[in-house]
Amino acid sequence: MKQETLSPVKYRETEDKTLLSVRDLRVWFELKRWGFLHAGFVRAVDGISFDLQKGQAITIVGESGSGKTTLLRTILGLAVPTGGEIIFGGRKLDFTKDSDVTWLRWQVGFVQQDPYGALAPFMTVYRILREPLIINKVKRGEHMPRIREALEEVRLTPVEDFLNKYPHMLSGGQQQRLVVARALILRPMLIVADEPVSMLDASVRVEILELMRKIQRDYDLSVIYITHDLSSVRYFSERVFVMYAAKLVEMTEVNEVISNPLHPYTQALLHSIPDPEPENLTQIRDVPAGEPPSLVHPPPGCRFHPRCPHIMTGLCDTEEPPAFEPCPGHLVECWLYKDGGLPEKR
Ligand code: SF4
Repeated sequence: MKQETLSPVKYRETEDKTLLSVRDLRVWFELKRWGFLHAGFVRAVDGISFDLQKGQAITIVGESGSGKTTLLRTILGLAVPTGGEIIFGGRKLDFTKDSDVTWLRWQVGFVQQDPYGALAPFMTVYRILREPLIINKVKRGEHMPRIREALEEVRLTPVEDFLNKYPHMLSGGQQQRLVVARALILRPMLIVADEPVSMLDASVRVEILELMRKIQRDYDLSVIYITHDLSSVRYFSERVFVMYAAKLVEMTEVNEVISNPLHPYTQALLHSIPDPEPENLTQIRDVPAGEPPSLVHPPPGCRFHPRCPHIMTGLCDTEEPPAFEPCPGHLVECWLYKDGGLPEKR
């Protein structure tokens, strides 16, 4: 493992295996006021709790507008929580302190969705990779070894052929490799990747995911991978968290979510994956109608109840379901599992 040589952070040597602990996190944005009228809040993240272990890769999957990106931006220190807490590397973060936010940004690397938009078009590869080193006051003598190491890690080699290129001279896949190299260059503890392959050609998506998985394993990095595409999770992570309307509704192992999805929303997500087999093209898929609810006025009870084919009126539309564990390690927020096991018919 290369991890010991890469990390400047002391807590790697501690016994505690938990890198990130998110507890009842809420991120609400206040809507514009009209005179004395208070229009309310957008509840982008509304009571989320989970742990991420050192060296673990998790995927957060959900539709656009479910709050995934706000959750990720909060973990990056780019949004301020309204409530709850984030503990990173044993340190409870105070988002009102610049020192905590700066420290957090050093620990977390970011891989954006749109590689071309994420790279300054007027800067060469060398300058793009050197910039975070300068901003974070890394010694000048370390710049070139780190740049070389990062480029070799993402297989942009021979390194000399790429140093003086501009982003527009690279293919989409090469641009995303460069974004990954920039995320690695400060040797972070955690990488967060926001739909990192959704804007790439299908032919290079798997290649980029496999490259990120290899780097994650080689460096024992923790990774949070955000996507709306459940079909891509098997390439990458060990655990999957399904997010709907600002809440986590199902948390389990990646194979379990594919073979035994429990929440009706997760089942709907799986049904919405296109099947490339020609004989299956005419199959009618069981995808619930309707749109995700407003995050300003979310529905009472279970937030999925207006779309759910299994709704139990009087319960689902009035009381919010807690997390049940019908199978070991498989958590689901749905009243169907209130008796502790799997219902006979789902
Ligand atoms: Fe459907 Fe009720 Fe479960 Fe919500 S709690 S997903 S409405 S069955």
